[in-house]
Amino acid sequence: MQKESTHAPTTTNGPRRVKYVRRLDQIEQLTPEQRDRLGPVSARYVFRANDYYLGLIDWDDPDDPIRQLIIPREEELSEWGTLDASNEESVTVAHGVQHKYTDTVLLLCNEVCGAYCRYCFRKRLFMDDNDEVTNDVSEGLRYIAEHPEVTNVLLTGGDPLLMSTRRLVEIFEALRAIPHVKIIRLGSKMPAFDPYRVLNDPELQDAFRKYSTPTQRIYLMAHFDHPRELTDVAIEGIDACIRSGLICVNQCPMIKGINDDPYVLAEMYATLSYIGCPPYYLFQGRPTAGNEPYELPMVQAWQTFQRALTLGSGLARRARLCMSHETGKIEIMAIDDEHIYLRYHQAKDDDDLGRFMVCERDDEAYWFDQLKVVSRVPAHA
Ligand code: SF4
Repeated sequence: MQKESTHAPTTTNGPRRVKYVRRLDQIEQLTPEQRDRLGPVSARYVFRANDYYLGLIDWDDPDDPIRQLIIPREEELSEWGTLDASNEESVTVAHGVQHKYTDTVLLLCNEVCGAYCRYCFRKRLFMDDNDEVTNDVSEGLRYIAEHPEVTNVLLTGGDPLLMSTRRLVEIFEALRAIPHVKIIRLGSKMPAFDPYRVLNDPELQDAFRKYSTPTQRIYLMAHFDHPRELTDVAIEGIDACIRSGLICVNQCPMIKGINDDPYVLAEMYATLSYIGCPPYYLFQGRPTAGNEPYELPMVQAWQTFQRALTLGSGLARRARLCMSHETGKIEIMAIDDEHIYLRYHQAKDDDDLGRFMVCERDDEAYWFDQLKVVSRVPAHA
């Protein structure tokens, strides 16, 4: 059984309300044989989509990137990776509260997304026996209030924009009552999955205007993976966010079959820079269970990323290629014939912050743990 959202979106008064589907037999473009084959996959890793996003798929192309993003694949069942690849459990300080980097606390406040990305690194949250998320953020708010070093709070999950506007307003208000919280981040793929969520909800736009102030902004950490997601209506959605006072940036993983092409990535980065949602992080895919068909070795990812960066203007080149490793955000800085050069852009342990590492080059390696580190240089050597 799939978990249900307890908070329906409030998009009732706009030009369109998207319809959600949760069963593969609701996808008429799939043949009965395909539905049968994919049934066991969606039984293990849930499927969810909506008619707006399904409408972006070119069903004549079996390799269509939007299709790859949400339609299950049999290869997901191969034994590979673990469900909590970055060991988020180790930084969980209270129910639904993660504190890994000094400045930033994560509130896992919703366990549903507008659709489920097949390569999701938090797919464990959508499983029935998982209880890491809580809609009740009171414990998190208490923790944040007691930690003056916390200047950034990321609302995540799941997707916070699938919560009701009323609930979001309550959380914004509570966070704004804590003076040391300067930035509220909304980690959301709704601008890609369902731009109408923002466009149809003037009350939400008013809340953005009220709680994103000149000195304490709300940031939208948008999640576009492919330029085809940047439809006219998605761009309108980002524009509505910007006009309501949000600062928008984009972060996404590099995913095999979706954006592992320098021209695709460069096109997306260029458009994101034009619309005021410049690229922030590009993530190396975590070794998460079910994700093998979507992952690329880091050498290949870095080469593709570097090529993409040569194709755009400065504002389209601001992404950093990072691994969200258990020990911190490790940036892949350079690769030569013999070595891979890494640096801790963020670190769980303050002593690691800025640490530079030289590793033996391994063209098959997907993740930091597979590399052999030959030298470590502290940031302030
Ligand atoms: S939007 Fe994020 S949390 Fe939701 S399914 Fe996609 S990757 Fe996972």
